[in-house]
Amino acid sequence: MLKVNHFDEITQLKMGREMDGTVLYWTAAYLVDGLLIDTGCAHTAEELGRFLREQRVEQVVNTHHHEDHIGANYFVQRELGLEIFAHRLAIPLIKKGFPLLEYQEMVWGYPELTTVQPLPETINTGRYTFEVIETPGHSPDHVVFFEPEQGWCFTGDLFVSENLKMLRADEDIEGIISSLGKLLELPVKEMTLYTSSGRVVPRGKEAIASFLDHMRELRGRVSRLAGESLTAPEIRDRIFERETQLAPLTGGHFAVINLVEQLMPGDG
Ligand SMILES: [Zn+2]
Repeated sequence: MLKVNHFDEITQLKMGREMDGTVLYWTAAYLVDGLLIDTGCAHTAEELGRFLREQRVEQVVNTHHHEDHIGANYFVQRELGLEIFAHRLAIPLIKKGFPLLEYQEMVWGYPELTTVQPLPETINTGRYTFEVIETPGHSPDHVVFFEPEQGWCFTGDLFVSENLKMLRADEDIEGIISSLGKLLELPVKEMTLYTSSGRVVPRGKEAIASFLDHMRELRGRVSRLAGESLTAPEIRDRIFERETQLAPLTGGHFAVINLVEQLMPGDG
């Protein structure tokens, strides 16, 4: 399913595989002044392709290599004749592919492989200039696209929510914290976050600051409980009451315990 939303000059393309009448998981791509940021997953690639044929698309970038961000890369490359740009670490993964877990294959599917070029430091679309900011954490190859004049920040999967409760097994919470800290330092008073979950956050700096406070508090609680010799699963149950239902569905890939373990003292 593809849902198109407009935020002034920004077009949001919310996509997700539909099964039994429900969308399994929404992922958003954005189109602004001819710049396409991410391309959704393989299961929605044809639908996105049909939409893009009617649009002005001149440049294509990926925030990172994950399968729900590069699914229609092949379409823009083959059918629209456009080159795709991503972080240098994403290039081999998008070119040669990478294994998916069973749930990832079901929800998003294997993207067709494409060539990809390294991102420049800035991207000019004519009306806007986007700074490419390296923001590792969610993945090592993650970048955000920041337009200082407009205060827009396309944050990919870097920012999910102020009250993060779980983590992917391969995410690095320290990286996420310092990358979001970097966005707080950007020389604008406020910015709007355009996230890959589809959530648009108008007071982005406030939201990031509240995320960082939440993490500081959570780390403090984890440390205190670890000091009382509680194990990571015990700390999880004490703070969050239980594991998320996503844990068994994803073979533990998305889980509260991943976050708790990374916040344990002495880890990393
Ligand atoms: Zn991702």
